[in-house]
Amino acid sequence: MRDEFDQRIIDAADSSGSRLAQTLQDLIRFESVVMSDPTKAGPGERLCQEYLGRRLAASAFTTELWEPDAEALLRKYAGKPGAQRNRNFTGRPILAGTRQGSGGGKSILLTGHIDVVPPGEPTHWAYPPFAGTQVEDKIYGRGAVDMKGGVASMLVAAEILHELQVPLSGAIVFSTVVDEEIGGMGTLAMADRGYHADAGILTEPTSNRVTPLCHGILWGKIILDGIGGHAELAPRHWDQGGPIDAIGLMRFILAGIDVINERWRTDPRKNHALMELPNQIIVTQVKAGEHPSSAAGRAEIIIDVQYLPHEKDAAGVGGNVKREVEEHIARMSQVDPWLAQHPPRIEWILDADCAEVAIDHPIIGAFREASKQASQPFQLWGMGAHTDMGIPTDLASTPTVNFGPGDPSQAHQPNESVTVPDLIATTKIIALTIARWCR
Ligand SMILES: [Zn+2]
Repeated sequence: MRDEFDQRIIDAADSSGSRLAQTLQDLIRFESVVMSDPTKAGPGERLCQEYLGRRLAASAFTTELWEPDAEALLRKYAGKPGAQRNRNFTGRPILAGTRQGSGGGKSILLTGHIDVVPPGEPTHWAYPPFAGTQVEDKIYGRGAVDMKGGVASMLVAAEILHELQVPLSGAIVFSTVVDEEIGGMGTLAMADRGYHADAGILTEPTSNRVTPLCHGILWGKIILDGIGGHAELAPRHWDQGGPIDAIGLMRFILAGIDVINERWRTDPRKNHALMELPNQIIVTQVKAGEHPSSAAGRAEIIIDVQYLPHEKDAAGVGGNVKREVEEHIARMSQVDPWLAQHPPRIEWILDADCAEVAIDHPIIGAFREASKQASQPFQLWGMGAHTDMGIPTDLASTPTVNFGPGDPSQAHQPNESVTVPDLIATTKIIALTIARWCR
């Protein structure tokens, strides 16, 4: 069904290319690099939030900026999604704004993060990472894809709805956070503050595919203890003081991980229709050895393990899958007489949660209808990585889907870029979706 405001929203979005480009360039120029050590944090995160706050206020949003108390949040939510240790929000505020509707309608949450990962090696960039360089219809810079392009699109969508005076009975709640790139405590702070809505849109990059699902992510370190010794000399048995090569132990465990991955590839519990890949135990880092002429005395394997929403434990995180991986490693270790007596140890480093919104949820129906009116393809997708969608979805009872501009595989890469037509398409579909949802 075509709404009387649809054509005006479409026209306004189509003519917002230079506003979107300028907004994204402004956002990229704030060097809002996330710092786990707050003494190293610059003013970029705060200045970026203040800029967005001014834009919201000009569109009739009531806004607030606050610096959450990380210690208090950790005490309240320890073990739950987003509750990280050793965080500090001094000088790094969260922004939230609300534009009330006329009353009685459904509300929407628009949310995203403005922190970005460090740019890495400067020589890997064709354009300076914080310049926001535009070349033809592409804008380059750290955060162009992850996820200042999404923030620019949702901001301009809210501005267009205000400027056209599209009648909305439900409220628009807009919030941008920091700390996403180191564990999601900013989103936890937003939810804890009471910001919620009847549905949410998190504008992480999805190439404008409606993404009601993300993976949970575990990082673990497998530690293998061998015994160092001379690499070139005939070894004695280990119970007579001989060496045990930890690199050999590592090969054995790596081969076992390959077998588990092969089993998981076709295991229905480890697959989801919207996900491109099965859950895997991906080996991302290895470290072993002390000296070129010595048998390695110790080895470490860093793994990245994905999990699906149906695998979550009672706290809403990946405890069940941690136990499952630990059991696999323990069982394969039984085969080796040394490892059976000196079992590998696993230290878990990170647990980032996941969530899922049912594909028959009405917010997805609103997206489908908006895409049709905008003559844009409607596609469902599962995000193989983690996003913060679980915190609003589960903690704040705000079913939240990811939908945003740009190719997600460019996230964290040098030369990340997004096109202006992509930004326009996101803005248009979000504005049309809100016009339906909050009507
Ligand atoms: Zn992101």
